[in-house]
Amino acid sequence: MVSVEEIRSTLKKVFGYDQFRGNQEKIILNILQRKNTFVIMPTGAGKSMCYQMPAIIQEGTAIVISPLIALMKNQVDQLNAFGVNASFLNSTLSKSETNRIKRATLNGEVKLLYVAPESLTKEENVAFLKEANISFAAIDEAHCISEWGHDFRPEYRRIKSIINQVGDIPIIALTATATPKVQLDIQRNLQMEEADLFKSSFNRENLYYEVRPKKNVKKQLVKFIREHHGKSGIIYCLSRKKVEEIAQFLKVNGIKAAPYHAGFEPSVRMKNQDDFLNEEVDVIVATIAFGMGIDKPDVRFVIHYDVPKSLEGYYQETGRAGRDGLEGLCVMFFRQEDIQKLEKFNKDKPVTERENAKVLLDEMSSYSESAVCRRKQLLHYFGEEYEDTACKESGLCDNCKYEREHFDGKDYIKIAVKTVELTEERFGMAHLVSVIRGSQNQYIKSYGHDQLSEVYGVGKDKGDLFWRSVIRQTLLNEFIKKDIEHVGLLKLTIKGKKFLQEPFSVDFIKDLDFSDVDQTEEENNDPAPSAHPRNSYDKVLFDLLKTERRRIAQEKDLPPYVIVQDPSLQEMATTYPTTKEALANVNGIGMGKVEKFGGSFLKLIINYVEENNIDIEDVVVIKTAGSKSKNKIYIIQQIDRKIDLEEVAEQKNLSMTELVEEMEIICFAGTKLKLDYYLNHIIDEEKQEDIMDYFLNADSDDIDDALDEFDDDDITEEDMRLMRIKFISEYAN
Ligand code: ADP
Repeated sequence: MVSVEEIRSTLKKVFGYDQFRGNQEKIILNILQRKNTFVIMPTGAGKSMCYQMPAIIQEGTAIVISPLIALMKNQVDQLNAFGVNASFLNSTLSKSETNRIKRATLNGEVKLLYVAPESLTKEENVAFLKEANISFAAIDEAHCISEWGHDFRPEYRRIKSIINQVGDIPIIALTATATPKVQLDIQRNLQMEEADLFKSSFNRENLYYEVRPKKNVKKQLVKFIREHHGKSGIIYCLSRKKVEEIAQFLKVNGIKAAPYHAGFEPSVRMKNQDDFLNEEVDVIVATIAFGMGIDKPDVRFVIHYDVPKSLEGYYQETGRAGRDGLEGLCVMFFRQEDIQKLEKFNKDKPVTERENAKVLLDEMSSYSESAVCRRKQLLHYFGEEYEDTACKESGLCDNCKYEREHFDGKDYIKIAVKTVELTEERFGMAHLVSVIRGSQNQYIKSYGHDQLSEVYGVGKDKGDLFWRSVIRQTLLNEFIKKDIEHVGLLKLTIKGKKFLQEPFSVDFIKDLDFSDVDQTEEENNDPAPSAHPRNSYDKVLFDLLKTERRRIAQEKDLPPYVIVQDPSLQEMATTYPTTKEALANVNGIGMGKVEKFGGSFLKLIINYVEENNIDIEDVVVIKTAGSKSKNKIYIIQQIDRKIDLEEVAEQKNLSMTELVEEMEIICFAGTKLKLDYYLNHIIDEEKQEDIMDYFLNADSDDIDDALDEFDDDDITEEDMRLMRIKFISEYAN
């Protein structure tokens, strides 16, 4: 038997670490004694070491079953870098590579062999493993075995029968998420009910949890990220489309953000991921495809734009914040409609799968709406009791931090527990609530529960949601418990039975109210493009800016609209730009305009902000992507090279009208376009001068007005619009 000293010195020698963390050493010793071992440890706590060390120190090869091919390669590379001989077998290998690895394993050279579950089930591989000297099998991400977990993989359920064929070898199962139900499922499936369980606490003491109503989310996002300027964060969205939209939206608002989802080319994914790791971008907006195996220690916030499908998923994803033990803010946006949407997605799934998914979603919405300490709820979900006061004292979740409405739960608990007792512990939430509220459905009648006079209908003065909340809190306080065998059923606990005999006061908290979240808002709530902020601008400042524009116009002898147009002034009266850069960010104003006319506007705004004590940090301005020329760079380059516009249009597959539209967008955003080379061919110079003169003296740059003025001439609308571009370029940009 290997001694503890030998293990410790190997830790130092191979990995360079001074000591084991948490349960690592005990787990390693357990495996070395050839005992089945079950490890439940939160992400980042160091699960891999638990099987890597015994694999290295023992004779033979350990097989590691792991679901993610991409991570497998990572792990193998890391081990090789430490000088440990590790390899993997999966579908990405060529025949000759596979053969080479098998030979090395049979020669006893490979200490760890990572295998994908689908490779494990292949017959030729089973035959090979039988021949090899296998020390033990480690099953990573063991929750994939359970249909009740959040990442069920059917091939995982066949692992045990294959291991049986390989030989009598110990098994170590590892996972970072397991509710009591999932835990039981794993142990049953692997036939290791007797295994030694090493469960670490799931409490992430440094994480702050908060659930916010999903309302004005974009504005909240920008505000939040600006408040945490320069810090790394992840925003999870459900759909790829949303990922792209939000990433783009953040970029438009000056936030360094990049999108990530499985639909991008691997090279794009790799780049965006690297940019995030290297802090080229602060925020990564992603689907849950992002994050597996990513070990960035200083992610300061994880935001869930959409509600996750399960608390396991939520815990895993939020777990990527604050891995270094420092601040980690976890904010989720919630509305009931999102839960219903997710339920709809499940409607084509087989019945059991659909029902499982619904149970997980119910837990998710209960968690969100509850005003009970988030930490307590999360830990309870994973089978852990949290009686500590640390969360309350430090305000480490919204429910502990903010005032919530409390009431005495005593009388309600009595009713809930009594109902569980009288219905013989054979029912779940919905039925219990129906009994208490005196519903008259067929089940109630057929079970005769309407005859239970002590409880039937005693709670009819309160609503469904109230009683659900009471039963959940009765559960959280362990007066009742979930039946692990039969999902959904609630049973009595000893504590509950005692309570019935001798009831006492228990602090209950009223659920949060998410009902005022506008149901459809987020779909269409893109605020008006900032070029036309309709109502929200500062009218006083706007008038001052207009007066200033008039003054400049007179001074330069130009019509006011040439200086800047109204929508730009409105935007300035919303965003309060006080620097040249900020001013150049306003739609319709480029650097050219800033240099030409910007100074006096800036001076005015700076004074105004000071006099009125406006905290610009507090002003959350959000911009939408708005209209943008897709071919901007190309068009500018071609015009610089004096390429015929017809040719430019043709090359980009645009009609002439479309090209002119794009040129207008470019020009109105502040870029000079020198069109003389083209215009001189189509309009004689004298006429051009007349038109320029007209625009200089007109009240507006309206095209129809201009065409009316020149209707005797042979000027088309397109010509006139090109002339307007020339005019704006010369005088305004
Ligand atoms: P998990 O699989 O539980 O998410 P990992 O096995 O990836 O976690 O380990 C997380 C990090 O902790 C890794 O960077 C690993 O090298 C490091 N680590 C593991 N054990 C120790 C230890 N005893 N001392 C120091 N660092 C450790």
